[in-house]
Amino acid sequence: MCSVGGIFGTLLTEQDCAGCRLCCKFDSYGLWQTPVICKELASKILQEYLPTARFIRREGHFLMRFEREEQEDIYPCPLLDPEHGCIMGDEKPFDCMIWPFMLMELEGRRVVTLSPICPVINQRCFDDVCTAALKAAPMIFAYADKHPELVRPYMDEFPILAVDKAGH
Ligand code: SF4
Repeated sequence: MCSVGGIFGTLLTEQDCAGCRLCCKFDSYGLWQTPVICKELASKILQEYLPTARFIRREGHFLMRFEREEQEDIYPCPLLDPEHGCIMGDEKPFDCMIWPFMLMELEGRRVVTLSPICPVINQRCFDDVCTAALKAAPMIFAYADKHPELVRPYMDEFPILAVDKAGH
């Protein structure tokens, strides 16, 4: 899930993501991290990007149906073009825009956490990553105000980089 340069600056460039794509492929343990799709985005995907996309209905949102690769516990996102990356470009789901940050809720508070699997971010200075998270957090929480379905329950091992002071 290539993140937006506006949030990360030089921490994570398009070139970094182009050479990786790890976050657009999931194993069976990581399928809970597939992007949340709102109703409008599901329509857009069907009309403009992938008419064959299939969705799983959840409470208030959808998830895309991913097909397992033969003989491997790997589920690539159906919107991933192996040559060119995400076919949605700048219209990709919000989860993908902010990745490797993730929006979660811990004890009634929304938090911005860091996925531990991004190999590029893991090589960056942690202070710089925290600074980027604090800078992005107001935008992330404001978006979540309108899309509460994006907030996942907190998962252990995801470092918390920012807490919503508004108390959501
Ligand atoms: S929607 Fe795009 S960025 Fe998000 S997981 Fe799928 S291919 Fe990757």
